Amino acid sequence: MTTDVQPATVEVHDVHKWYGTHRVLDGVDLTVRPGEVTVILGPSGSGKSTLLRVINHLEKPEVGYASLNGELIGVRRQGERLKELSERAILAQRSRIGFVFQNFNLFPHLTVLDNVAAAPVATGVLRKPEAQALARTLLDRVGLADKAGAYPRQLSGGQQQRVAIARALALRPGVILFDEPTSALDPELVGEVLSVIKDLARSGTTLIVVTHEIGFAREVADRIVFIDGGRILEQGPPAEVLDRPQHPRTREFLSKVL
Ligand code: ADP
Ligand code: MG
Repeated sequence: MTTDVQPATVEVHDVHKWYGTHRVLDGVDLTVRPGEVTVILGPSGSGKSTLLRVINHLEKPEVGYASLNGELIGVRRQGERLKELSERAILAQRSRIGFVFQNFNLFPHLTVLDNVAAAPVATGVLRKPEAQALARTLLDRVGLADKAGAYPRQLSGGQQQRVAIARALALRPGVILFDEPTSALDPELVGEVLSVIKDLARSGTTLIVVTHEIGFAREVADRIVFIDGGRILEQGPPAEVLDRPQHPRTREFLSKVL
């Protein structure tokens, strides 16, 4: 059984999002090509999580759209509904997008194996025996084959996050979004999670990673995107954005986190 994924293209076009009068995303354009690893940096409150939620269709932008492999994920312009996907189409697209959260979000009442096997069964993609076989393969891939029968509370934070990554892989997503995947971890557990993400990066999965781990970003990112105030202020290869930042806000941010 293969666990390989078909890397996808993500496109974000002129996305504006606001909550009440508070503008959170202010005209974001972003294209992530198949197999590319994009790291998003930016201060707290700059709109990073909202951008990931728009890509995953958990938030609808007031203007603009996000698309996966050229298929639109919600299109709205100035409040006018140009096209709206059916809920079914949205779910189908979302199943092609993996999402790994800061706080793991595992099902506490399910074993590690069933946490990983749950989504392919629930969505009718695989029957339970096949899903469990896939889950074992994926747990092996994240170095947790021996924890299949454990419950999340019996694992360290780093192990729980590795299970969450295996769970995200179980639907064979075209892209995986990571929202500060190591921010909730004790420092000594950060490395094991970053190492799993690095393996995914090397295997050609399309990744979008929000993180403050600059060393990791330098190592794996094809492109670094710096967001502040809901706008992309600067983007480019790590050697440019990290070593020769052009925008004063990027310089200020890096001086605080480096
Ligand atoms: P980041 O992930 O970069 O820290 P977020 O995307 O979470 O930023 O949030 C950007 C801004 O939007 C913040 O000011 C936050 O308070 C606000 N915000 C986020 N979600 C909501 C919401 N559901 N309702 C109102 N304001 C929100
Ligand atoms: Mg956030």
